[in-house]
Amino acid sequence: MFDSVSVARPVAALIDELGRLPQIGPKTAQRLAYFLLRAPAERSQTLAQAILDVKEKIVVCSECFNLTEEIPCAICAAQSRDHTLICAVEDPIDILSMERMHAFRGVYHVLHGALNPLEGIGPDELKIAELLARLRRSPVRELVLATNPTLEGDATADYIAREVRAAGLATAVTRLGRGLPVGGDLEYADDLTLSRAFESRRPL
Ligand code: ZN
Repeated sequence: MFDSVSVARPVAALIDELGRLPQIGPKTAQRLAYFLLRAPAERSQTLAQAILDVKEKIVVCSECFNLTEEIPCAICAAQSRDHTLICAVEDPIDILSMERMHAFRGVYHVLHGALNPLEGIGPDELKIAELLARLRRSPVRELVLATNPTLEGDATADYIAREVRAAGLATAVTRLGRGLPVGGDLEYADDLTLSRAFESRRPL
């Protein structure tokens, strides 16, 4: 990718690796690589260690499937949270958005994706059976489906709502209200928009 005369091989390798990260174009990858080259060695060590640590120390919570250092995760273990209110999200990163708005005091269930037949992602690829098992195991008064406002997210929410009804569970199923940018990801919604969508959730 790089001319070995103009860029030393280790530098080219670093630019190449950084360029594989999401949202990092070639220019940014170069800038980051040269920043690290100029920075003290400790900075590279801390960064490399932090990357290794998340791969070694982070596991999936057996209850909610969020990423955590301990099982159960801090949210599932918290007595102060309402365990009869579950918010289902597509990705662990969506929990950050929900927590940032400080309006949700329930617990979560991470689906790890959304239904996408074209990409071969069916219900079995997601943590849907685990969610239903959880609803059966202990009474939940409300399940908020906070999947992304996309075709896939809507289809996933509809599918789960049908499954909950088919299972004869008394859990009320709601979906985040309007106002979220259609086709966007929950993670990019600002706090106010997300709070409003949460407050205006509607039954499914
Ligand atoms: Zn958990």
